[in-house]
Amino acid sequence: MANVLEMKYNEKFGRHFVAKQDIDVGKVIVVEEAFITMIVMHAGLNICDTCFKHMTNFIACQNCTFGLFCDEICAQNDLHKMRCGRSSKDDNPLVEYAIRSIVCALDIFAADDDSACYVDTLMSFVENVIQDPKKMANVPHSIVDNKSKYRLFLTLNLWLGSLKEDELMARAHDAFEILLKMPQIKAAFSSHKKSRFLMHLCVFHTYLVFCNSFQNQANGGIFLLRNHFNHSCAPNVLCSNYENKSTCITSRHVKKGDQLFISYGSGYFNHSRAERQKGLSNDFGFQCECEKCKNKSYPISSDVIKSDAEYQYLAKELDMKKVKFSDGSKCAILKQKCLEILIKYRDQPWTIEKDLVADFYQQLSVETIH
Ligand SMILES: [Zn+2]
Ligand SMILES: [Zn+2]
Ligand SMILES: [Zn+2]
Repeated sequence: MANVLEMKYNEKFGRHFVAKQDIDVGKVIVVEEAFITMIVMHAGLNICDTCFKHMTNFIACQNCTFGLFCDEICAQNDLHKMRCGRSSKDDNPLVEYAIRSIVCALDIFAADDDSACYVDTLMSFVENVIQDPKKMANVPHSIVDNKSKYRLFLTLNLWLGSLKEDELMARAHDAFEILLKMPQIKAAFSSHKKSRFLMHLCVFHTYLVFCNSFQNQANGGIFLLRNHFNHSCAPNVLCSNYENKSTCITSRHVKKGDQLFISYGSGYFNHSRAERQKGLSNDFGFQCECEKCKNKSYPISSDVIKSDAEYQYLAKELDMKKVKFSDGSKCAILKQKCLEILIKYRDQPWTIEKDLVADFYQQLSVETIH
């Protein structure tokens, strides 16, 4: 995270990011590795099962045709051992996510303590975090170590949205059953009290990953910093993903003290106010009060941007719907062009032309298959 940002908390916005100084357009402000990652789609992708690196030379799993690893270390993937022989196509992504997140938590605590006592430490850690009445208001000073990361993960936002409660419980139960098939986990959680704790943890993690995961065409992840940006329909930050990393870049001039906003999903740029409001309220449970939603004169248009040849080129590419998302280098050029428009017209207010460019940038960041 660039030193120009600060995480803050208030009742209305929860934890959020504020600029410590003016930030120009096109500046990278956050680059982070996912806390938890998941492969969404295997077919045709050359991705290591463990670290998500793009490769051409893989070591295949000795026991199945689904596991591909970049080296011997990645091949020692406990998660794969448990799921060996299963195609990810058959799995429910939410269950997989929940399992990955729990294995990740167990690994963090087991790394400190190789006896089975790590479960006790984990139990009191989770209880302490959850029962802390000020848990949402706590702004971490640093999330360098894994336990601080896990603490932040446990206090991410929860909002059930479209998922039904019984669906959530069913998925959590699936995760629980699969986890107990791992011999080490079964042994570590053998007492009644511990296995009940594990079931509760499954419910909580399933809920957390459901509300906070992000995914593109190839893989998904939980990004602890990125998850703390609030939404605006005219965002001053755009995000893109590559492998297991997320990059956030400013799309507007940001003044000292301004809050930084991203757009949740790419669907909110070109929709009417009513559609945006309905979508955001259904999916995320809030009433958007961004400048586009509050200002009755939107949508506004800029003739200057509209007559720009570079803008017209982008609009045409988008309009023809012919963008090949498998052409990584073409997509990278288009993304750069989108940013250039936003940089060039940094002093103009947010208009429908900027909506188009920002939306295109976001689509290119999510859909591109490398
Ligand atoms: Zn790897
Ligand atoms: Zn295998
Ligand atoms: Zn809005």
